[in-house]
Amino acid sequence: MNIVEGRLLSGRPRILNGGGPPGSGKGTQSPMIKDEYCLCHLATGDMLRAAVAAKTPLGVKAKEAMDKGELVSDELVVGIIDEAMKKPSCQKGFILDGFPRTVGQAQMLDEMLEKQGVKIDKVLDFAIDDSILEERITGRWIHPASGRSYHTKFAPPKVPGVDDVTGEPLIQRKDDTAAVLKSRLEAFHKQTEPVIDYYWKKGVVAKLHAEKSPKEVTEEVQKVLS
Ligand code: AMP
Repeated sequence: MNIVEGRLLSGRPRILNGGGPPGSGKGTQSPMIKDEYCLCHLATGDMLRAAVAAKTPLGVKAKEAMDKGELVSDELVVGIIDEAMKKPSCQKGFILDGFPRTVGQAQMLDEMLEKQGVKIDKVLDFAIDDSILEERITGRWIHPASGRSYHTKFAPPKVPGVDDVTGEPLIQRKDDTAAVLKSRLEAFHKQTEPVIDYYWKKGVVAKLHAEKSPKEVTEEVQKVLS
């Protein structure tokens, strides 16, 4: 799910890209939205993976749940987002990618935004059937520094295993396996789908056809954000 927030009220676009299951294209579309609307891009999954790699106290706490494909605690991710949104680069607007993923997180986010006097404009719901996701996830390769993602079959890099832009090595995420995907999808249906209902009630959700090609989804995103 993506939420464009604050644009109408404050002239400062804010996009939260929280729902949509793993492999639905949130991470692929976020860099495009970020560039087009000059936003900072905050992806809780990327921030948590960086914390795990650096073995920070936060990373140590998050690792076990992440390895199993479960969600980490609301307090932990809300703390990261609260801190990150204070950065000067986020003052013109932001895109939140992979957050909020529970109704509790959405409520805490609302409280945070209320204090800043802004509200959500739009939530983009990356709707897709589970059956498509396994092939997308297991063929995925990532450039960790930029968040660019590739796919062995659908979007291969120019040189196998190497980022097109920097020439740096690509990695496969530890949780991008068929087995962990099962738990991640369970978490999505049980804990994140209710978040989409939460925003439906606020009248801000735009549903995307996330099974389409990245280019077609980009066109849909541009249409709903224009
Ligand atoms: P992602 O890169 O968005 O697929 O996230 C990878 C993993 O990080 C998830 O499977 C969760 O374990 C954890 N994670 C990321 N964002 C959140 C969130 N908003 N709430 C709880 N856990 C999260």
